[in-house]
Amino acid sequence: MISAREALDRLQAGNARFTATLGNGGTRSPGGRAPELTMNQEPHAIILGCSDARVPAEIVFDQGMGDLFVIRVAGNIVAPSQVGSVEFAAARFGTRLVVVLGHTECGAILATLEELQRPDERQSRNLRSIVDRVRPSVEGLLDTHLDRSALIAHAVRNNIRASANHLRHGSAVLEQLIQDDGLLVVGAEYSLETGVVDFFDGVPAT
Ligand SMILES: [Zn+2]
Repeated sequence: MISAREALDRLQAGNARFTATLGNGGTRSPGGRAPELTMNQEPHAIILGCSDARVPAEIVFDQGMGDLFVIRVAGNIVAPSQVGSVEFAAARFGTRLVVVLGHTECGAILATLEELQRPDERQSRNLRSIVDRVRPSVEGLLDTHLDRSALIAHAVRNNIRASANHLRHGSAVLEQLIQDDGLLVVGAEYSLETGVVDFFDGVPAT
């Protein structure tokens, strides 16, 4: 692992490369249109994704700057600040699609499974607040005869469904937008192995 100083150097150098491409007409910038975004944004989708470094929403969906309103939190859980962020974007920008984007082998699911099997009293209260939100998606599977990898696969999808349902039913603002204004909340799983995103929850039949 590199040091903090080296990591900071990499970010600064990266931003220098980024701003240099903007000066050259911006053709290499994602979407190639950063400067005009200083005035407003019109994201066409809201993504609630996991913080996992291997699942950057803009890259996974090949979208440019200004295209996505992204909220990332370990385990793509839904706590009040996530609901508020989705409400904000849906109401302020008129964005009508919300995607809960989980992924295979999610560390938050693994941590929750470990916690259920070997409770650790020393776990930080903050980390516990994430595990507690994932817990219901894992707990019910412990009595089944699934092997570990099947259990994790099911838990990942349960957790995505739970977050999508929470957004659909845990906010009067979002509920009204769904009922009257065509807001759609779907659940999707990104495969770390294949890169494929499977939209498996809440997608209306065409
Ligand atoms: Zn994850």
